[in-house]
Amino acid sequence: MIIERENPARFAEIVGAVPSTPPDRVDEIVRRADAEQRSWAARPLTDRLATLTRAAAAIEDAIEELAPLLARESGKVVGDCRGELGFAVRYLRWVVQHAPGVYGDRELDDDLGRLVERRRPFGVVAAVTPWNAPIILAMLKIAPALAAGNAVVVKPSPLAPLTIDRVIALFAAPIHAVHGGAETGAALVGHELVRKVAFTGGTDGGRAVAALAGDRLTPTVMELGGNDPAVLLDDASFDDDAMDRLVMASFATSGQVCMAAKRLYVPQSRLGEFADAYRSAAGRVLTTGDPLAAGVTMGPVISAAAQRAAVALIPPGAVPLGRFDADPSTGYFVRPALVIAPDPDAPLVTREQFAPVVPVLGYPDEKTVLTWANAGELGLGASVWSADEERAFTFARWFEAGFTFVNTHNRTGMSLRAPFGGVKRSGWGREYAHEGLTEYVQTCVIHAPAAFRPGAATAPAGPSAYPTG
Ligand code: NAD
Repeated sequence: MIIERENPARFAEIVGAVPSTPPDRVDEIVRRADAEQRSWAARPLTDRLATLTRAAAAIEDAIEELAPLLARESGKVVGDCRGELGFAVRYLRWVVQHAPGVYGDRELDDDLGRLVERRRPFGVVAAVTPWNAPIILAMLKIAPALAAGNAVVVKPSPLAPLTIDRVIALFAAPIHAVHGGAETGAALVGHELVRKVAFTGGTDGGRAVAALAGDRLTPTVMELGGNDPAVLLDDASFDDDAMDRLVMASFATSGQVCMAAKRLYVPQSRLGEFADAYRSAAGRVLTTGDPLAAGVTMGPVISAAAQRAAVALIPPGAVPLGRFDADPSTGYFVRPALVIAPDPDAPLVTREQFAPVVPVLGYPDEKTVLTWANAGELGLGASVWSADEERAFTFARWFEAGFTFVNTHNRTGMSLRAPFGGVKRSGWGREYAHEGLTEYVQTCVIHAPAAFRPGAATAPAGPSAYPTG
């Protein structure tokens, strides 16, 4: 069986195909990865990092060829695809630079005894990833996992398997891809030789994966959905730069980003002024059309089901945004929209829409807006916008969110040095930064207490003794 991938911008066009991986073949691949892992882990860290450095160079060399492929399979605009591939290369190099400080042994030898802390790899890591940023979301798992001495089996989304397959082939390391949907993912996650699961995806898929892993007592890192609020305080600037940034924070990748600004809150007294400024910004920065065409900043959504779901979320009276140079009958295009003052209990507000339609609600005071912002089960990102940074940071501390942006939201607010992940049902564990490296090792200790070292003067204490150091 093969998985064919259509172009969401022109669904009559088949972009390419990958072979699907039946469960017995998943077993074979995991066993091979397990066998390869031992010799990979036995190689010096510097050796493994040199391999990753070569992979980074190979990916960088291929960006111009791979970016259009990624655009054609995912519907993301080609500049965005180039940016994602480049960012994945940067992250890979960041890992090479920072891994020695995290994965090396730590040794202490003093009057309390001798202590060695080792960072050991888990073994085979299963990386199950979504389609919306298929390269960087896989790289956030692949790079630290391989650097630490693990083998990796990646299960990309069947909605964007082509480019990541090519990227994986550029590593001379124990890394393999298996292809398919939930069934293939389940065969991988539930495999007895998988020792760690790194999952990025929706809350439903996450629940199934966590249950399977839990049954095997396999540890997980889970990066799940979000319904990020963006709160504009009463002194927030509605100038062109801020509004342009806010529009793209919601509509990049057609609103299909975990940390998109998905609910906007502005002071009730400024709602009209905001709607005008936002619509003007969309006129400047938002052009929907073919992802490969120059000047286009938003492509289609990923599938027919996503197109139907998005259209169903747009009520009559919604404000259409930006330029629309697309034909929704030949590609999965959706005219982006702003919904002003919807019912606060509408699904568009209470659930992750993952679509190019955004609600804006007026709020009476800061206490109320915080209650609204923190409502619900998700807690991935949030943002606060204010002319006063101190005030913004004070407000930010009250969000129930893993990552709070100040005066921006989404990709432009990320940093390689800032750990990313959710609270509440948006997941656990972190990617990026130091914490993103430590997810792929277990600390193991070798310890000789001073009291029992050969020639020690102190005699062992009685049966109820506690450590002295
Ligand atoms: P999805 O959950 O449908 O799929 C993600 C991956 O999991 C795919 O590879 C899929 O085949 C696999 N999968 C799904 N069900 C499975 C099961 N029962 N067993 C094993 N594998 C299974 O997500 P999607 O539609 O591809 O991506 C969109 C979602 O991902 C959104 O909710 C978005 O917010 C979230 N997301 C989160 C982050 C983050 O960092 N927190 C980043 C990107 C996307």
